Parts: sequence; C-alpha cells; structure tokens
Amino acid sequence: MSTSMGSPRAPLPERVDIAIIGGGIMGLGLAHNLAALGQRSVAVIERSYLVSGASGRNGGGLRMQWGDAGNVALMMESIEICRGLAQELGINLWFRQGGYLFVARSEASEARLHRNAELHREVGAPTRLLSPTEAQAIVPHLDPGPIRAATYNPEDGVVFPWPFVWGYAARAIDRGVVVRTHTEIVDLLPEARGFTLVCASGERVSAERVVNATGAWSNQINRRLGIDFPNRPHRHEILSSEPLRPFLDPLVVDLDSGLYFSQSTRGELVTGISLPDVDGYDDDSLALHSSLRFLAVLAARLTALMPITRSLKVLRQWTGPYDVSPDGDAIVGPTPGHPDLIQLCGFTGHGFMMAPAATRLVARWLVRGEAHPMLQRWDPARFKGAPTSRREDMIIG
Ligand SMILES: Cc1cc2nc3c(=O)[nH]c(=O)nc-3n(C[C@H](O)[C@H](O)[C@H](O)COP(=O)(O)OP(=O)(O)OC[C@H]3O[C@@H](n4cnc5c(N)ncnc54)[C@H](O)[C@@H]3O)c2cc1C
Repeated sequence: MSTSMGSPRAPLPERVDIAIIGGGIMGLGLAHNLAALGQRSVAVIERSYLVSGASGRNGGGLRMQWGDAGNVALMMESIEICRGLAQELGINLWFRQGGYLFVARSEASEARLHRNAELHREVGAPTRLLSPTEAQAIVPHLDPGPIRAATYNPEDGVVFPWPFVWGYAARAIDRGVVVRTHTEIVDLLPEARGFTLVCASGERVSAERVVNATGAWSNQINRRLGIDFPNRPHRHEILSSEPLRPFLDPLVVDLDSGLYFSQSTRGELVTGISLPDVDGYDDDSLALHSSLRFLAVLAARLTALMPITRSLKVLRQWTGPYDVSPDGDAIVGPTPGHPDLIQLCGFTGHGFMMAPAATRLVARWLVRGEAHPMLQRWDPARFKGAPTSRREDMIIG
C-alpha cells in the first residue's frame, strides 16, 4: 500500500504534541494545515482506510449559497482555497466550478431564495436570483412548470472527494506527520497534561492535545470521558448513474424536497435526496446499508424535475453518515472540563466543503492562538446554556 495514503505499519511515536483521531477530511485537513505552519509533531490515527467515513461517501458539492452570513463568508474562503489547492497538494482534485442552481417550488422556499440573494449581495457572493425560464436556460432539461424562482452562483462547484482526502494525507506525510490507518482508538486516559490514547492493537500514544475528528463516531470517543454532546449520526443515501455525455454544468438542488444532482467529470449523475422521516441511529453500529425506499423516493422526484432522466441506469448506490448538530453549527474547540481534548465534529452535511477553511482556522488557533468569529460560534461550551435555535436554513438533508 502506498504510504502517501497512510499505512497500517507507520510507526506510532510514543509521544506527540497533537494526536488526531479520525482520518477523514477534517483530521487530514487539520494535519496538513498544522504541518504547513511548522507543527510537525502530529499523528493521525484512523480506524480503517482513509476514505472509509463520510469523507469518502459524499457528493463533493461546495457552495457559497447559505442562509447565514458567517457560513457564506466561510465558504467564500473555502472556495478561494480550493482554487489553489490542487497545486498546493500536487494532486488533481477534479474541482469544477459549474455553479449551484437552487430551485424553489413553494412560496416559503421562494422567499428563502429572495432573502439569500440579498444577503449574498451584502456579503459579496455573486449569487443571482433567476426566473424559471432563466433557470431553464442554464439547465435546459429542467421542467420549469412547478418552479417559482431559482438562485445561481457560478463560483460554486464540485470536487472528487477521494483525491482531496489523499492529497491532504500525502502532503502532511511529506512534512513529517504520521498517518496510521487500520488502528482504532479504544480509550483515552487523562494525564496531568493531555491524554494517553489506547489503540485496539495495544499500542499507546501520549499527546499534549488530542483532536476528536471522528465525525459521526465522535460521541463514541466522548462517552469514554463521560461527555455527551447533542450531535447525532444520521444515515444518508446517494447514488451514481451510468456515464452520460456532459450535459449538466451546475449542481442542482430542489429546496423543497432536498433533491440534489450534479454530473461528475466522468459523466455520471451523482444524486441524493433527504428522507426526513428516516430513523436516526439508536445504537452505535452506524449500519451503512442502502434502501429500496431511497431509490423510489429519489426516482419520483428526479424524473418529475428532469423528465430526461426517466431511462437513466443506476450503477451504484451507497450510504454515509451525517454528523448532525442540533443547531446546524459545527462543534469545534476545547471540551468543557477537558481543555486538551479538542472537538472537530458536528459538521452535519457540509463538512467536506467547509474543511479547507475550517481546518486552516483551527490550525491557526492551535499553533498561534489566533481567534476567529466562527470558532466562537462553534464553541462546544454553547450547549451548557439554553438551547440555541437553528440559524442556518440551507442545510440539505
Ligand atoms: C451521502 C452524503 C453526502 C454528502 N454530501 C456532501 C456535500 O456535497 N458537500 C459537503 O461538504 N459535505 C457533504 N457531506 C458531509 C461530509 O461528507 C462530512 O461532513 C465530512 O466528510 C465529515 O468529515 P469528517 O472528517 O468529520 O468525518 P469522516 O470522514 O466520517 O471521518 C471520521 C473518521 O474517523 C474514523 N474513526 C471513527 N472512530 C474512530 C476510532 N475510535 N479510532 C480511530 N478512527 C476512528 C472513521 O473511520 C472515519 O474515517 C455528505 C455526507 C454524506 C453521508
């Protein structure tokens, strides 16, 4: 196995400054940014292979189109980073800025798009409000009948998630970070300063600071210390079709059903939909099986909005976990009662797109103590007070 993607045999140091549990986009993006700032006493410990979690199972969409100014600004930064990232990481990320087209079929969704277009103009994002016929000019196969309004941002786009994760890993390893795969952390023992991590293999690593970047599994780690944050794992399904001739530039989202679809650079239609009444997980197994119900719900909505997809053949269907935070904001920062345990989780359905900016600002805070308004907002201590209401209404899924 190439060591640039981590290795089950990478020697684990007895001591590191920072140990990161979880080798998804968050853990590896942070490792890359820490190493770039000169912090190289870092180990990333991943239970399985590097794209085994949500980071290898997502739709790869990146967008500025959010309903909250903080998220719009963060995503403008993330997309700006993505423009130079292939060069920085030395790997093709298949980053394609074909835009995002949001369509609204209800009055409530139309009002949301109007509000967003105004907000985006204030923040400086190039989102445009469109009529149904203007939307159809961008995606000619859309049925404009039920559409009331649309918004389009040409700078939004998609990436191929796997090379993104591998690129972060390879660059971090080049700079001296240890990336150990197929090694599960089964316990954290608090020390006077930091923790000793206990691996299922029996190995132990001491770290002054530990980052919990295990996404939908983060509560399993936290519960070892008697901590229970309110983020919960949630099943999400997605599929890809046979390859088609390129015909679709933007990633399209139907705001009313949560249907989304884009065309990958290999020609496949990649599409998913929210199943709002789907059960969350009531155990720790996070079973990632696919369902026929998803296929039926998705097919009905997709063919209604894009009749041309009626004879489309599905090649692959899979499932991944969202790490759902109750107020829609991530959970990032020191853990109350355990300040050397840093949470980097709760990114719900948008962790991939936020990782470039989020992991850079977390690295700057860890290495230089730099503050950032999003860090204040993501503070895990917020759950100690009265429940915060959800301020972001553009979460798909
Ligand atoms: C179907 C689907 C579509 C999505 N679409 C998008 C999208 O278009 N755009 C977007 O931005 N986001 C999307 N997301 C969300 C995005 O994938 C996640 O927010 C992001 O990947 C989270 O990254 P992570 O590193 O926090 O978690 P993960 O990638 O899940 O990584 C956590 C890692 O921790 C490891 N781990 C767990 N427990 C342990 C342990 N005890 N010891 C060691 N390692 C452990 C796991 O094996 C896993 O590899 C989607 C998600 C799904 C499921």
